[in-house]
Amino acid sequence: MSFKSILIGQDSVREALNRYMIKENLPDTLLFLGTSGTGKTFFAENFAEDWLCMNKINNLSCGKCQSCLTIKSNSNPDFREINVDGNSIKLKTVKEIQDYSLLQPVNNKRKILIVNDIDKLTIEAANALLKILEEPNSSTSFILTSKRPEMVIKTIQSRAIKLRFKPYTKIEIKKIIQDEELNDIDLISSLAIGSCKRAIFLCNKENFERRHENCKIFISLLLGKNVNLIFSKKTDKDELMEFIFDAQTILSDCMHFYEDTQNYINFDFIGDIKEIVSKLTKIKLVNIQNALINSEELILSTSTGALMLAKKVSSDVYFNLTQ
Ligand SMILES: [Zn+2]
Repeated sequence: MSFKSILIGQDSVREALNRYMIKENLPDTLLFLGTSGTGKTFFAENFAEDWLCMNKINNLSCGKCQSCLTIKSNSNPDFREINVDGNSIKLKTVKEIQDYSLLQPVNNKRKILIVNDIDKLTIEAANALLKILEEPNSSTSFILTSKRPEMVIKTIQSRAIKLRFKPYTKIEIKKIIQDEELNDIDLISSLAIGSCKRAIFLCNKENFERRHENCKIFISLLLGKNVNLIFSKKTDKDELMEFIFDAQTILSDCMHFYEDTQNYINFDFIGDIKEIVSKLTKIKLVNIQNALINSEELILSTSTGALMLAKKVSSDVYFNLTQ
């Protein structure tokens, strides 16, 4: 399953995009805001494909014309998508954006330029982008996306029309994955935490099993069992990031336990969560949470190998446990 087949959720966004399509009038700058996995990039890419299609069917892309085919192969002259390369979007990239924005469209009235994760613009890059947005030219529309609105400078926000993507509800996620042959639909809809992308990710058996293993390892670590051998097998940075994500959900559940909200994410590990809370103080768990946040930032910003980083994560957790 992919996002492409999902026709549930984000109604207000769909309606706004439909209006632009029907009126054939696209704003100079759209800003898609919403938490991870709510479909911002998916909607941006598909809207661009629909908009640029030369043979639309009911305002949707045909998937076959030259425009549609060249978007798929990333060679459509009227379309460009910028993704963060490393940990930030730098001035050099914004200069490329400016050069591209000034080109005349080839097959359409307007080109579409998507810039994802604009909260990762450096300060000078953000100011340079602002200058481009302040002098709109009729040949380019921008679609900007961000999962961290508080990190997007206000002046860029004020130049754009904002569309907000809501976290998917458990009911919506259940509807989306109901046709998958799964026994764990309830659990996946809980583990997704509002992210459709994560729900789809967990529908894959291997990913689902790895999440279970990650939780087991982290719980063992918190309960003082020696799991260094298992943990040191994590030699891939993406897997390590997954581990940290899963670990954070266990810690969130511990906090839910303190707050007595009963709103558990990992309800298959509820017995272990109760044991952790009975053995560890809240302050220790908060310190471990902070250590994991720092680890995430380190993993994103360093070229150090995943094995070394995995050992560091493990020892940071251990350090905070024994303090
Ligand atoms: Zn087409």
